[in-house]
Amino acid sequence: MNSEQFRKFGKELVDVLADYIDNIRDRDVLPTVEPGYLSEMLPDEAPEEPEDWKDVMKVINDAIMPGITHWQSPHFHAFFPTGHSFASLLCSMLSDGLAVLGLNWLSSPACTELEIVTMNWLGKLFGLPEEFLNRSLGPGGGIIQGSASEATLMALLVAKDKTIRILKTHDPNLDNDTAKSKLVAYTSDQCNSSVEKAGLLGSMKMRLLQSDVNGCLRGETLKNAMNEDKALGFTPCYVIATLGTTATCAFDFLSELGPICKEANVWLHVDAAYAGSAFICPEYRYLMKGIEFTDSIVVNANKWIPVNFDCSTMWVRNSCDLMRAFDVQRAYLNDIADHQKIPDYRHWQIPLGRRFRSLKLWTVIKIYGAAGIRKHIRTQIALALYFAELVRADDRFVVEPEPSMGLVCFRLKEGENFTIQMLDILTKRKKVFMVAGSFKNKYVIRFVICSSLTTHENIDYSWRKIKEVADLILNADKINSSTKIGIH
Ligand code: PLP
Repeated sequence: MNSEQFRKFGKELVDVLADYIDNIRDRDVLPTVEPGYLSEMLPDEAPEEPEDWKDVMKVINDAIMPGITHWQSPHFHAFFPTGHSFASLLCSMLSDGLAVLGLNWLSSPACTELEIVTMNWLGKLFGLPEEFLNRSLGPGGGIIQGSASEATLMALLVAKDKTIRILKTHDPNLDNDTAKSKLVAYTSDQCNSSVEKAGLLGSMKMRLLQSDVNGCLRGETLKNAMNEDKALGFTPCYVIATLGTTATCAFDFLSELGPICKEANVWLHVDAAYAGSAFICPEYRYLMKGIEFTDSIVVNANKWIPVNFDCSTMWVRNSCDLMRAFDVQRAYLNDIADHQKIPDYRHWQIPLGRRFRSLKLWTVIKIYGAAGIRKHIRTQIALALYFAELVRADDRFVVEPEPSMGLVCFRLKEGENFTIQMLDILTKRKKVFMVAGSFKNKYVIRFVICSSLTTHENIDYSWRKIKEVADLILNADKINSSTKIGIH
């Protein structure tokens, strides 16, 4: 494809993407395809001869689009949101168009420096302590990672390195492998799967501690677990607190966990992948009370800020810990920047190369302004409360726990099987997409306000669809056979 073709097709594609969003309400949120459908439609072998763009677009329209789940549909209420905005899209294109790879400062100075500026902007907007900002009071700073999973794993690996270094200062003859095998990480039983996986990837025992009745990890629980382990000869190393759990958006008690970690010299990482963006609104900052005790925090800006995946913003209090752990030198990576002043981000992350992600985040902050992002988040939360009111007004349903941020969990009073069946039918009908969670060992349906296109009317529609299915299954005994329940 030459530049002339790119001009033409690029403009057409912009129209396609604008039309996609403008007309997304006409589509069912879930596709109708069956697993394996695409392999049946596409050839087994790659083409030997070049094909033209028209052919590519035809396959995209005929085969790929039918297999898309429409995350920006106003009836997408599953998981958590994934950010989207035209401003972000344009900058994704710009970033790909410039095609720079951030390896070190010189490989594209603006790639490093815009990230520093943007991460400072966002850190300040979230009200993070000064120490987390780049070059403020010390070695803290922010970086954009590819995912919260990577951020949590990075923090685990650095915690491991730091703990072993500390142990070695007491016992220089310490056997590294034995010491590493005795390190323990702690989190709650409500943690995201990525947290448990970080333990597996980083070869560290990860204890999922029992959360309280509201799904929050308490200080006392952590303290007891650490004491038990110490008595058995293990070494507490890493704690992951969640601010906004995936199942119910519960908030661990950072203000209780923090002092315990500080006293034990244990790395405290905060997973605020979804809810952290709400800290841009001062009224929600009380939920991060205790943040001053933490060593690192991750917020997926690409969840709740209208910036497209991937954009996991992570701040660390002391980047020297990362440098000590992951500084691997090569002649071809020698840089002219003074890394006392400019972070050498390659040591802060797993891959060597970096995408120019800050372009889209910086642009979105500029185009929306902090006020625009706050408005977006407050609107989403208000819509969730509106949905909760509708559910509560119907005495066949229970809303539990209390709605948190943009998430409402609900179930049918009649019993778990009915709730499971309800979600199953709704999924098959493809008009509203929600997924399950659990609260106090009870199966609940999670309803999250995800799309920025969602309005009160869309919530009314989704609620009507939910009620239709509730009517069906709760009246099933009257028609005397659940098999008569249609999916249409
Ligand atoms: N942590 C929490 C609380 C989440 O809700 C999620 C995903 O929804 C993750 C971590 C994982 O995020 P990522 O896909 O960026 O690794």
